[in-house]
Amino acid sequence: MASGWETVIGLETHVQLRTKSKMFCGCSTAFGAPPNTQVCPVCLGLPGALPVPNGEAIRLAVRAALALGCTVHPKSVLARKNYFYPDLPKGYQISQHDQPLATSGTLSFISPERGGVSAGIIRLHVEEDAGKSIHDRFPKATAVDLNRSGVPLIEIVSAPDLRSPAEARAYLLTLKQQLEYLGISDCDMEKGSLRVDANVSVRRAGATELNTRTEVKNINSFAFVEKALTVERDRQIAVVESGGAVMQQTMLYDSKENAVRPQRTKEESHDYRYFPEPDLPPLVLTPEFVAEQQSDLPELPSAKRDRFAAQYALSREHAAVLTASRAVAEYYESVVHAGAEAQAAANWVMTEALADAGDHQEQLRVPPAALAQIVALVKGGTLSHQAAKRVFAEVAAKGGDPRTVAEALGLVQVADTNVLAGWVSDVLGAHATEVARYRSGETKLMGFLLGQVMRASRGKADPKLAQRVLEEKLASAP
Ligand SMILES: [Zn+2]
Repeated sequence: MASGWETVIGLETHVQLRTKSKMFCGCSTAFGAPPNTQVCPVCLGLPGALPVPNGEAIRLAVRAALALGCTVHPKSVLARKNYFYPDLPKGYQISQHDQPLATSGTLSFISPERGGVSAGIIRLHVEEDAGKSIHDRFPKATAVDLNRSGVPLIEIVSAPDLRSPAEARAYLLTLKQQLEYLGISDCDMEKGSLRVDANVSVRRAGATELNTRTEVKNINSFAFVEKALTVERDRQIAVVESGGAVMQQTMLYDSKENAVRPQRTKEESHDYRYFPEPDLPPLVLTPEFVAEQQSDLPELPSAKRDRFAAQYALSREHAAVLTASRAVAEYYESVVHAGAEAQAAANWVMTEALADAGDHQEQLRVPPAALAQIVALVKGGTLSHQAAKRVFAEVAAKGGDPRTVAEALGLVQVADTNVLAGWVSDVLGAHATEVARYRSGETKLMGFLLGQVMRASRGKADPKLAQRVLEEKLASAP
C-alpha cells in the first residue's frame, strides 16, 4: 500500500511526572484511588484558590529536558490554556505556550528501516493534567473523576522527523526507556502516565514538501502506535490516490475496530486564548541549579549500551538486552562486580534471571552475589549447568547460599578421582564388548561409556573429570 509514498510523522508525548503531590497543590497523585478523593480547592478550581508550583516536578522536567539535549531556559512562563470541558472545572489548564521550559533537543534511536537516526525535539514544557471523564460507569451518563486534575505533566514535541509508523514506535520506546532511566515517570500507557498524539501526513517518495496533516488521538498502548498510524497513513494515501485531498482534522483511533474516525469538527475548533498565568510569576531557574541537574544525570541507555559492549566485550545485541532497563543493567554489573566472568554472567542474566523476573513482577530475585557464586560453581566444575539452573530456581524461590542449597539438593558433582575410578571400573566390567570395540578403534563409543558412568553416578560425576579417568583406564593395558 505504502510503496512510492513517504510518511511524515511528528509525536506529541505527554508524560506524568513521578511526584508524590500534584503540580500546584498538595493532593496525592497515587493512581487508582476512589474517584474524587484526591482533590482540594486548588485542583477543583474553586474561586480564590491559589496555585503553588511543585519544585520536584520542575526538577524532574529539567532532567528530562537535559537528557534530551535541550536548551533549558533560565526564564519560562506558565500560561493559561482556555477551553471548556466537563473534566476541567477551572475552564483552563496551566501550561506553557510561547516561552516553554526547554527547546531544541534530539533523541537518537534505532529505526527498523533506516538504522541509527535522530529526531529533533522542538520543545519540552510543563503543564497540569485535566480530570477524567468516565463513560462506562453509569448507563447513559458520563461521570467525572478529578483525582487526575492537576497531576504534573511534561509535553515533549518532536519535529516531523519520523518516516514510518514502525519508526514512530521505535522513537516512543526509546523515549520511554530514557525517561525510565531518569526515574521521572513509570511511562505506563495503559495507566495513562504516557500518552501520545501524532501528526501525520504523506507525500510521494523523494518529495520534500510537507502536506496537510491530521492529528491522530486516542492511541493508548505501545502496540497501537504502529497500528493506528498505519491505518491513518493508508487512509491518506487512498484519499490522494483517488484524486481527493487530505483535510486537516483530528482523527480518533478505535483499537477494537482498528480504524480511525474524524472527531466532530465542533469538538476541535479550539482557540485556546493563551495568556500568562496571573497567579504565578515566571519560572526562573538559576544556572547553578541547571548545572547541578546536568551533572547529576545518570548514564543514559545508549551510553550504557556502548560501555557494556566495550568494557565487558559483549556483542551489541547482548549489551542492548542487558541495558533495556536500568534495573537489569545495574543487576548485571553487580553480578560482575561480585566476581562472575562477564560473558557467563550475561548469559545467566539474559536467560534465567530475566525469565524468572518475567514470572515474578519484574523482581530480580537471586541476589547478585548469589548468582556470581552459581556462575563460579559451574566454572569450577562443582555444578553441571543443568544442576546450576535448579540451584538458581531454588535460591530465587527460597533464598539461601547456593553452595549449601546445592549440597542439600544432592547436586554437587563428584570430582574425587577415587570415587570416579570406582564407577569407571564398574562400567568397564559390565560392558566388556564395547570396551573391546573401543580399543580396536571405535572411539566414538566414548560417548556411550561416559553416559554409562554418568548413569552409574546418578548424574553426580563431574563429566570432564570422569572422561579423563575413563580415557586413562581405556588406554592402560587390559
Ligand atoms: Zn488539590
